[in-house]
Amino acid sequence: MTAEHDDNRRILERLSNALGPTGFEGPVREIVREELELVVDSIGNDGLGSVISELKGDSSSPRIMFAAHMDELGLMVRRITTEGYIKIQPLGGWLDQALINQRWIILTREGEVPGVSGIKTPHVMSQDARSKIFKRDNIFIDVGASSKEDAEDRLNIRPGDAIAPASYFQEMEGNCLYMGKAWDDRAGVAVMLQTIKRLKQLGHPNTVYGVATVQEEVGLRGAQTSAFAVSPDIGISLESGVAGDYPGITADEAQELVGSGPGIFLHDSSMLPNNRLRDLVVDIAQDLNIPLQFNVLSGYGQDGAAIQKTGAGVPAINVTVPTRYLHSHTGVIHRDDVEGAIQLMVELVRRLDDMTVEKIKQF
Ligand SMILES: [Zn+2]
Repeated sequence: MTAEHDDNRRILERLSNALGPTGFEGPVREIVREELELVVDSIGNDGLGSVISELKGDSSSPRIMFAAHMDELGLMVRRITTEGYIKIQPLGGWLDQALINQRWIILTREGEVPGVSGIKTPHVMSQDARSKIFKRDNIFIDVGASSKEDAEDRLNIRPGDAIAPASYFQEMEGNCLYMGKAWDDRAGVAVMLQTIKRLKQLGHPNTVYGVATVQEEVGLRGAQTSAFAVSPDIGISLESGVAGDYPGITADEAQELVGSGPGIFLHDSSMLPNNRLRDLVVDIAQDLNIPLQFNVLSGYGQDGAAIQKTGAGVPAINVTVPTRYLHSHTGVIHRDDVEGAIQLMVELVRRLDDMTVEKIKQF
């Protein structure tokens, strides 16, 4: 198990530290290509930039599609003020509170420029102002420029440049918990990469498409276009789940616990899973003794929803690595949940032969 954990950790660290805000997934795309190019039969992309890899098994059918999104929450340069401060356009669902007093990296055409989203010091705030949320319209990034010209000419910052959170991978307590940015959805990308590699070794009675999608955080855009390209029989979204195991969140809001196994969503506001596919995953978890968690969420959206609505409709499911503190600079995941998700997905694909998939598609 240690060797598996070590290799999972290597990939997770690499993916978490890569800078790939929505629409600017390039560095993550390079990692996905590097990890897969010697493993899969072919690797290409859709017209939006999603990576589509194909791993042939013993049969050309059924076609099994994994989707994990490469993009992370980020910002975009809206404009530069006369004084040289950067005003921003959020990319994805940020809370205003999560944007302030953080470090950022602006990705210019000449390289990375660090900055900080400072706000007025509390020393000069009225009692009333201190208890209020600081609105995103007032947020700016200080890059140390002395003027607009300085920011443009010396630092090469332009409107439209992407801005990524500055936050780095670290191990926590007992080396089992991994703290870092972008677990949504680099955790899912890692599960996808490792599942594909193990399937290559073990064999499988179908053809597998490992897809790393773009622009999930702004409306599942890459999942829609890549699912059109793949035309799958089964869709499996690999995501960061929503852990409900820390102060301030209730079991009615989210039921997954970090370290208690991978999860499947039974409901989110974007998708209902196929019931037979759901039951198959539950059976496999039982057979393999992998603890499996369920989550019923009122909100959320994930790539499975776009895949499910492709063509005449595709049975789909969303499989998760429970994650704390989504959509912020730093989240927390457990290595056992990652490994459990990989083992579960490997066995699921190995059981998805023509006959099984025909049954899943019957209503
Ligand atoms: Zn996600």
